Amino acid sequence: MTKPEVKKLVKRWQDRLHLGEWTIEVITIDGAEINEEGHLAQIQRRVHSLEARVIVAMHREASEVEATIIHEMLHLVLGEMLAAFRHGVDQLSDQAAAVAQADFDTAEERTVSRLTLALAETS
Ligand SMILES: [Zn+2]
Repeated sequence: MTKPEVKKLVKRWQDRLHLGEWTIEVITIDGAEINEEGHLAQIQRRVHSLEARVIVAMHREASEVEATIIHEMLHLVLGEMLAAFRHGVDQLSDQAAAVAQADFDTAEERTVSRLTLALAETS
């Protein structure tokens, strides 16, 4: 997949998920993974300024690249929930905050994965 194709898919899913208020920078990696841990993509989000940076490995099957883009864009959808959660976590002790954050991260990932499967089937 080329960088313009990746950008087009990000724009397509930004529109489909009604994330028009976000400014999304797209960074493509010329490989099959974005890092040594084997991640295919990553999103960095700043909820308060509505800015995000999505990093996508380009050299994969088109359907796989699209699924990873859907996945990362869904993390944006849930970004507001994360911000609200973190606001609450700030009131906890460090130990309780770490446990709550780990639980939240697991739940977020599972939710994003399920929605990705559902949306990728209909794309
Ligand atoms: Zn994820």
